[in-house]
Amino acid sequence: MSNESPSDERNNKLSRRTFVASGVGLALMFGLGAVAKAAPRQALLRPPGGQDEETFLSKCIKCDRCRSACHTSAIGIVPIEKGFLQARTPMMKFHIGSCDFCNQCIDVCPTGALKPFDKQRDKIGMAYLTDVCIALNYGACTLCYSACPYKAITLDEHKRPIIDEQKCNGCGVCENICPALMMRSYVGGKVRGVEIRPISSKEV
Ligand code: SF4
Ligand code: SF4
Ligand code: SF4
Repeated sequence: MSNESPSDERNNKLSRRTFVASGVGLALMFGLGAVAKAAPRQALLRPPGGQDEETFLSKCIKCDRCRSACHTSAIGIVPIEKGFLQARTPMMKFHIGSCDFCNQCIDVCPTGALKPFDKQRDKIGMAYLTDVCIALNYGACTLCYSACPYKAITLDEHKRPIIDEQKCNGCGVCENICPALMMRSYVGGKVRGVEIRPISSKEV
């Protein structure tokens, strides 16, 4: 026969419930932690020379020197929503500036996270037309074609742009100059008519 009073018994039950609940909580935490750890990271547009994402992440110390050195303000930082490991590392922001391959970011990088880059051979990313491209929808825009410094854009018989994947090095001039976002901003559009995407969509 138990010597426990009704209130002792109630307290013991509560403690058992608390224990089980916290155990489940811990299991969930560790479980979710494992999922978060295993979740693939999104490929990002890195400054020139940082295209091998695994090597880049192993070397970048988030010192911000490359961003400070960029005279066109083409380098921004990855927001925390992209994950702890990638947060505050540099990524290209072609809405703000484009890259002229001055190599300043590579020169100031203290760890070799940004490797020597050859603009004729290497690529930051690749230009793609999106469904808001003015030329694709209405014609009458050839800005990216005129602006591309590497003659990587030609026009078809309807004056629609065609990207030459061999010549495009992902400099971002076309995305930077594209007016499609401005025209659609009143409906909350965030995409331009041409955007530069990482070469490998392979998740790391
Ligand atoms: S190469 Fe020059 S322009 Fe291009 S991202 Fe680096 S610092 Fe900026
Ligand atoms: S300078 Fe190099 S180490 Fe520093 S944030 Fe840029 S890529 Fe990373
Ligand atoms: S990113 Fe645009 S402007 Fe730069 S080389 Fe490619 S197509 Fe030309």
